[in-house]
Amino acid sequence: MVNERYSRQIRFAPFGAEGQEKLSTATAVIVGCGALGTVQASLLARAGTGTIRLIDRDYVEEGNLQRQLLYTEADARDALPKAEAARRHLLEANSGIQVEAHVSDLNPENAEDLLTAADVILDGTDNFETRYLINDYAVRAATPWIYGAAVGSYGIAMPVLPDDSACFRCVYPSPPGGAQPTCETAGVLGPITSLIGSLQAMEALKILSGRATAVRRKIFTADIWHGPVRETSMPARDPDCPCCARREFTWLTGRRAPVSLCGRNAVQIHERRRPIDLAQLASRLEGLGEIRGNEFALRFRTGEHDLTVFPDGRAIIKGTTDIGIARGIYARYIGA
Ligand SMILES: [Zn+2]
Repeated sequence: MVNERYSRQIRFAPFGAEGQEKLSTATAVIVGCGALGTVQASLLARAGTGTIRLIDRDYVEEGNLQRQLLYTEADARDALPKAEAARRHLLEANSGIQVEAHVSDLNPENAEDLLTAADVILDGTDNFETRYLINDYAVRAATPWIYGAAVGSYGIAMPVLPDDSACFRCVYPSPPGGAQPTCETAGVLGPITSLIGSLQAMEALKILSGRATAVRRKIFTADIWHGPVRETSMPARDPDCPCCARREFTWLTGRRAPVSLCGRNAVQIHERRRPIDLAQLASRLEGLGEIRGNEFALRFRTGEHDLTVFPDGRAIIKGTTDIGIARGIYARYIGA
């Protein structure tokens, strides 16, 4: 029975039965199903969020399991796309909700489609480019979103409430310069990603249950190894902010570079629009290297390079940061 299932959060007075009712028809979009995204998705699914839309471009690997709480060794062995693996596990936890999996890289061309009808957007990405894109869409569509990031033992979370709070570009006018620590170079601990993902899920649940006024307009930062843990007030809106004041949505209207670095030692190629028949490709690659695959992606290993091809023609080439080499591998094995 629905009320038994959700009885503990309904009993929490500020949430209540009315909050549960609203939540059951609400839609949350999670961009990125890594450490933050899997925590957000798990909490929102168990709480009874009506629809959860998952967007992720990558597949599960063994190195994810230490902190990406939804995935299993079998997911890594099968190289399942994260969005699909997450969808399956979320439905195991709660079969009464809708979960959509989009194996896709959020970019200016698909942002409208993928983010549409969201009541809240949760940031589970690992890069500023995608966050500016989310911010542009969210401000234009007046959709709240929750920023979050974690590296090492440090994390940060902040809500963005369009027409109300400062937006992401008010706080970060431009991407940080120089080399930034990443989870690949500086490592990352499971407790910090779980903490930040939980805080993001909390603010999202307030919005989804019709309690947006309860959203805490604060910037939360924590280093949970060395300390400190603190909370600061959000700055005022920038009256000259290109996004929320001047309404110039340059990240949403821009074009994405067709080839990009993607995490440590990997290049993503996504300029092609030609769908690929993975079964056909698998038979063509027979004997040239180690092939593993499923209906969502095909993995092909040759020498020190690991090539993963998706049905829309997109590919991630691991084992190089050289865009020329990556393009060459793509051309050699998939086609020019
Ligand atoms: Zn702004």
